[in-house]
Amino acid sequence: MALSFDSDHETNELRDGGKSIGRLAWGQYGNRVGVPRILALLARYAVKASFYVPAVAALTYPDEQRRVVAEGHEIGIHGWIHELNSVLPYHAERELMLRAADALERITGRRPVGLRTPSWDFSPHTLRIEQEMGLLYDSSLMADENCYELLLDGAPTGVIEVPVEWVRDDAVYFMMNRFQSLRPYTPPADVLDIFRRELDAAHEEGALCQLTFHPHIIGYRSRIWILEELIRHAQSRGDVWFGTHADVAAWARDHAS
Ligand SMILES: [Zn+2]
Repeated sequence: MALSFDSDHETNELRDGGKSIGRLAWGQYGNRVGVPRILALLARYAVKASFYVPAVAALTYPDEQRRVVAEGHEIGIHGWIHELNSVLPYHAERELMLRAADALERITGRRPVGLRTPSWDFSPHTLRIEQEMGLLYDSSLMADENCYELLLDGAPTGVIEVPVEWVRDDAVYFMMNRFQSLRPYTPPADVLDIFRRELDAAHEEGALCQLTFHPHIIGYRSRIWILEELIRHAQSRGDVWFGTHADVAAWARDHAS
């Protein structure tokens, strides 16, 4: 089981040059309440997870990143300011990715080994840049439910994909847009049901169950229990291994069939 938390915080509003202090405050909740609540929960059940942090969020909240690493979790690259890679020219995407990795290393003392593209927006150049950076893994694509090696022009890259899916992402069920009439909303108990079915079926197959959460989405009192219930359910099985995405990618690389 691989749990991940995308600590986007205020970066979506900042990226767009937005001036809404209200929306910035929503992002700030991720730092003030979301991440501490998640870290406390993970510590209670001795579970290690992966946090994907845009460099601007890490620079805004360096102490948060140091605490995440000190508590045994992984921090991976999540863009400079949650930019969309597919609209950037190659050199700009590469520059931002390298600068983001440097910033995370400077703050946490660890060089990140994995990348989750912001909004899972993987450009035609992303893989080439990941390969050049010598990354162990990517976690932005959806071609499988288990890990697989990414190919570039048909050639193996050594970059392992730890696949994501919208169906295993809290944002899909809980996000709303204040200025659109369409506001999809799934009750928390139903989201637990979906995630638990993903976990149970993966367990049955002896396979990977990867999940994506956001501190400013899952952190609320009426939702955080979903995460706790999932962890309890997994641990009650007795043989579920929790790894960071880096752990899972390394395992997949070493056990490639
Ligand atoms: Zn994100």
